[in-house]
Amino acid sequence: MHPLAEPAREPGEIYGIVHGSSSIKKSDVVKCVIAGAGVAGCIVARALARVPGLEVVCLEQVSASDHSESGTGLNVGPNAVRALLEHDPQLHAAVLAKSYLWHTWRISLTDGTELFRLPISSVADNPGIRIRWSELYSALRGEAAGLIRYDTRITNVQVDPTSPTGRLSLEFNTSGQPARIDQIDLLIAGDGRYSLVRKLLAGAPDITQHGVVIFRLLVPDTSGGLIDDYEQWFNGPNRLLAFRVPGEAIYIAGTFPIEPGAPVPESARDGDWLAALYTPDSRPPSAQCGWMIDQIRQNVDSIHWARLQESPPLYALSGGRVLLLGDAAHGMVPTLGQGATQAIEDACVAARLLENGLGRADANVGQLIDQFAALRDERIRFAMSFSLEASDTLLAGADPVAGTRAKLERPFLSQLERLYRDITRV
Ligand SMILES: Cc1cc2nc3c(=O)[nH]c(=O)nc-3n(C[C@H](O)[C@H](O)[C@H](O)COP(=O)(O)OP(=O)(O)OC[C@H]3O[C@@H](n4cnc5c(N)ncnc54)[C@H](O)[C@@H]3O)c2cc1C
Repeated sequence: MHPLAEPAREPGEIYGIVHGSSSIKKSDVVKCVIAGAGVAGCIVARALARVPGLEVVCLEQVSASDHSESGTGLNVGPNAVRALLEHDPQLHAAVLAKSYLWHTWRISLTDGTELFRLPISSVADNPGIRIRWSELYSALRGEAAGLIRYDTRITNVQVDPTSPTGRLSLEFNTSGQPARIDQIDLLIAGDGRYSLVRKLLAGAPDITQHGVVIFRLLVPDTSGGLIDDYEQWFNGPNRLLAFRVPGEAIYIAGTFPIEPGAPVPESARDGDWLAALYTPDSRPPSAQCGWMIDQIRQNVDSIHWARLQESPPLYALSGGRVLLLGDAAHGMVPTLGQGATQAIEDACVAARLLENGLGRADANVGQLIDQFAALRDERIRFAMSFSLEASDTLLAGADPVAGTRAKLERPFLSQLERLYRDITRV
């Protein structure tokens, strides 16, 4: 059990909800449930466990031993690394211990012609990181141990009809048994891009497809040192991306255009078909791309498929009782690696606001959620629109040479600096 699992409480200093509003008076325990022990959920859980008079539990559908590589690898932006350091140095250290630093961003053609080389230090105050998805989860979950209930899948949430103040009831299956929590004062939806909480309380978000397939693969590093820091390679609009992650592995991601809204074509499941997308017509591939093309051909059955998509931001639901964070609040295109990055920023802001606010005698959950939305909305919309703008070279008919060179110009670099440096501070 993590030491934070048992928040210190002064006798009598326990809180309840005032009739007819989501403000709190000192009389009862505040019940807070976090849906999902993902990126955002774990960070917030740790912070809330420090608030006296708050009962916190984080419900997670996978088992504690789940080491799924479904996301395979992530580059997390310098902005999230900074936000985490300022908010929770212990957690920052735990995550960095499982990461390699991200210092440069290089873009070439698949024949090896270099187009772009950017030191991250020229646009950010600190490096980003490269990490395996499973290791990010294991670091975050390890530091929130004792707060997470695994094997617990949320199945329903609704406003409690017996609560005059609109508290919530949650149903779930835990280790195969149905169970429920009633009288919830604050529900934090950190349940990811297919958020059930959002779907049940606000309807499924409108998803916009941008006409690009993304595939991801994690392979043992047999490259002999060819691949290390973050790089991308274009053959027309078809793009490879790769970097080395701890555990002697290389993360490879590829993209190629499709009709917006179309499914991933069946032909893509064929290794030769996929490999051909990245093989230049008139020159041999560079040594780096030759190695990656072989890996794609050999490991096509292990590939995870996705499409470039986004959904509109939404931070608050159900009369000031539900706060949405991360992908549940805003699905963004992954082009600039800002999905988990912004989930971390979200969580650090929410954690700080709630930790300060819920500890006060006159705490008002609804107002705190509104404050979160006011602090984050502009930054999230900027991260979303800039990520989409940066996807120009991935679309059908794109000119990757002109599009990449434009990214060395001031307008793009100024926005990148804004993204990497201007984190939201409470
Ligand atoms: C192709 C692709 C590449 C990406 N690359 C990057 C990248 O390089 N860098 C980056 O920053 N981001 C990247 N992302 C985005 C990133 O993965 C997400 O933005 C990030 O994981 C969101 O964090 P979260 O906390 O909102 O949700 P998640 O981390 O998804 O966590 C949600 C949690 O909720 C749990 N859950 C869901 N439903 C339930 C339920 N009903 N009951 C209980 N638990 C539930 C899940 O099991 C999970 O643990 C990428 C995404 C894609 C699709």
